[in-house]
Amino acid sequence: MLTARTAVGELVVLTMNKDLDSLREWRKNETFFCPQCNQQLLLKVGDVVIPHFAHYQHTNCRESFAEGESPTHLLGKSQLFELFSRHTLEVKLEPFLKDVRQRPDLLVTWRGTEVPIEFQCSVIPLTDVQQRNAGYSMLNMLPIWIILTPQTIRSSSATILSIRLSQFQQSFIRQFDHRSPILLTYNPLSKQFHYISHMVHLKGSTYAVQHVTLHVDEQTIPFATPAAPSVADIHELTRHYQFARRKYLQSVIGYNQRGIHNRFLRACYEMRIQPIQLPAWIGVPTRGQEAFKQPDCEWQLLLIAAIREARKTPYQLDASFLRMFIKEFDGEPDEQLIACQSFMDFLRQERIDIYRLDTFTSGNFVHEILAGRFLAMHAKN
Ligand SMILES: [Zn+2]
Repeated sequence: MLTARTAVGELVVLTMNKDLDSLREWRKNETFFCPQCNQQLLLKVGDVVIPHFAHYQHTNCRESFAEGESPTHLLGKSQLFELFSRHTLEVKLEPFLKDVRQRPDLLVTWRGTEVPIEFQCSVIPLTDVQQRNAGYSMLNMLPIWIILTPQTIRSSSATILSIRLSQFQQSFIRQFDHRSPILLTYNPLSKQFHYISHMVHLKGSTYAVQHVTLHVDEQTIPFATPAAPSVADIHELTRHYQFARRKYLQSVIGYNQRGIHNRFLRACYEMRIQPIQLPAWIGVPTRGQEAFKQPDCEWQLLLIAAIREARKTPYQLDASFLRMFIKEFDGEPDEQLIACQSFMDFLRQERIDIYRLDTFTSGNFVHEILAGRFLAMHAKN
């Protein structure tokens, strides 16, 4: 922890600009106490970890969340404290919110509203996150969670990446304004924010994303949000999407050779088409596509097969037909329904004849869709 009380009850905050020697001198003549449990604290001044307070022995001062705090967490918390202080906002470090018995890393007052800031370095159970959010919600506070930048993107300078986002990471994706949802991450070691935005689901937990970095000294209040992807970035997102689609279609044949029962292959067989020859209108990132864990080409082909089997066209489908189809898939049915409906909209808009798999074998629907989605998103503002 970075806060303590002195013998006379004064609250002290360890900021970055206190030098180590004067801190060592200070602790000779001062005793420090936990603002929480009032036990005496040790002021640790070392060369590796930034100066911090610690309880003398293991304690049941549980609301402090402080013991076992990693050096990275301490460093990040301290840098974020400096950031808000620099913008002359009222900011409290590790304040204890009595009513909900929670201690956010920071509590910033922005235009009369208190905003808890949580810098989350370790992976904790999602229920803990929900519990803390529920606590803040009881106080009418909307927290900002910033997670530690995943190792995989820390040293990357690429603007467009294909990455896996764990369920834990995905739970911190937030919409800060009406723009693209954002995963806000921070790396104290390089003092950089890494933004993950403009996500396009590929399959499972893999996404093609835009990745933008911002040095803490350039960060604004409220936090900056990433601009729309450039034309070149949209091309690159398209390339990542097409690469993943092709890779899946090439590999799916192998599933059969391994004797795995596969609905996708069976549907291809029944429609007399090789997976790799699927027309360009099957496997497109229509709105809501992330509701399916499967790659788009898989659920979209199965949907086409189901419509053909019922001898219908995209013009004749109602929600009940689509709901029946969705039953076979894991996931959130209401969101999957939206994905199916937007795929139907796309087929109607492009006047696709689903009984002609030899049409539009090439064509760049993916690029059109992504450009439309991301540019429209930003034009609204
Ligand atoms: Zn304590």
